[in-house]
Amino acid sequence: LTQLFRPLDMLGMVYRTIRQGLIDMAAMFKLIDEPEEVADAPGAPALIIRQPSVLFDNVVFGYDPDRTILHGLTLEIPAGQQVAIVGPSGAGKSTIGRLLFRFYDPTSGRILIDGQDIKTVTQRSLRAALGIVPQDSVLFNESIGYNIAYGRDGAGDAEVEKAARAAALWPLIQRLPKGLATQVGERGLKLSGGEKQRVAIARTLVKNPPILLLDEATSALDTRTEQDILATLHAVAEHRTSISIAHRLSTIADADTIFVLDQGRLAEQGTHADLLRREGLYAEMWQRQAAEKEELSEAAE
Ligand code: ATP
Repeated sequence: LTQLFRPLDMLGMVYRTIRQGLIDMAAMFKLIDEPEEVADAPGAPALIIRQPSVLFDNVVFGYDPDRTILHGLTLEIPAGQQVAIVGPSGAGKSTIGRLLFRFYDPTSGRILIDGQDIKTVTQRSLRAALGIVPQDSVLFNESIGYNIAYGRDGAGDAEVEKAARAAALWPLIQRLPKGLATQVGERGLKLSGGEKQRVAIARTLVKNPPILLLDEATSALDTRTEQDILATLHAVAEHRTSISIAHRLSTIADADTIFVLDQGRLAEQGTHADLLRREGLYAEMWQRQAAEKEELSEAAE
C-alpha cells in the first residue's frame, strides 16, 4: 500500500510546490499591484541608461476612455535629482508611478528615460532600471537572505550582507539564531512594518537601479521608526534619480523639486521655499498639515 501512496505523496509535494509558487507570484503581483496590459514592440531594443533622466512629455492618460486622469502632464526630472510628487488624494500621483513602470501606455504624449521612449524598449530592461520601495512590502515564505537577494538574480551572501547593513537590518539579522537563513513570513519570523520596509530597501539596494520610485510610508510606522527609515531611504536615494510619491509634506521638504499635482494637472513646481512663497496649493497643504500636527500634539498632552 505504501508503494501506492508514495507517488501520491510526490504528487502532493509537487502540488504544494506549485501552489507555493503561485502564492509567491500572487504576492509579487500585489507588490507591483497592477496587471500587465502592454506588450514589447517587435524587436524592441534594451533601454540603455547613461544619465538617468526622466521626462513626462505632455502625457494624457485615463484608465477608462471616458475619464481622463492625467491632462497633458509634463514633468522634467534631470538625472540625479531627488524629486517629490505631492497633491490631494486622487490627483494622479500613483498613476504616474504605474505609467513609469509601463503597466499602461499614455493615450498621448511620451515618457522618456535618458531620451528613450519607454514604449520602444523592452519591459524587462525598463523594469531592471527602476527600483521601487512600496508602502507595503510583500515577503516570501523563505529565508530573510532569499528575500533580500530577490532584488537580483545571482546575488551572493556578501552582497546581501552589504545591503542589509545599509538598510540598517544587520543588527536584527545578527540576533537571529539562523542569521540570514532564518525563515520569515507567515510561517516564520514575523517582522514589523518597519522591518519589512527595511527588507524592501535592502532588496532594492541589491538590485542597484539608477532610478528609484519611493512610495512614501504610511502611518503604519511610528514617527521614530519612520524618521529612521526616511534617513535610510535618503541615503539610498543619493547618487540616483529618485521620485517620491508623498502624502505627508514634512518628509519631502528637502527635495530638489516638488511637483504639485491637482486633478491630473501640474499646478505648481519648485523647491519647498519657492512653493511657500507662492502661497498657492502647496502652501495651503503645508499649513493644513502643520495645523493638524499641532492639534495632534495638543490632544496628546
Ligand atoms: P492618493 O493620494 O489617494 O493615493 P493619487 O494621487 O495617488 O491618490 P491615483 O491613485 O493616481 O491618485 O488615482 C487617480 C485617479 O485615478 C483616481 O480618481 C482614481 O479613482 C483613478 N484610478 C486609479 N486607479 C484606477 C484603476 N485601476 N482603474 C480606474 N481608475 C483608477
